[in-house]
Amino acid sequence: MSHAAQELIVTWMWIAIPSAICGAAAASSKNAKVPGAILGFLFGPLGLIAAFGLDEREICPTCHGRLNGQPQLCMHCRSELYWRQN
Ligand SMILES: [Zn+2]
Repeated sequence: MSHAAQELIVTWMWIAIPSAICGAAAASSKNAKVPGAILGFLFGPLGLIAAFGLDEREICPTCHGRLNGQPQLCMHCRSELYWRQN
């Protein structure tokens, strides 16, 4: 392997690994930690921007607001929510 290629890989790792960590952190509050990390790792800073847009949270069927976890009541419209038992 040529010296230039080795330097390119080292440089890429320095960008990809922190981007993966930041991507996971950015998406973790929206239940999308793993896709966020993958985006950051593959696409670097661009993937990080995409990770901020990830949102895997549940949606209220009444008002379509994003929910944190599986609450009994929607925090937006106060309608009661029922969840399938796993
Ligand atoms: Zn709602």
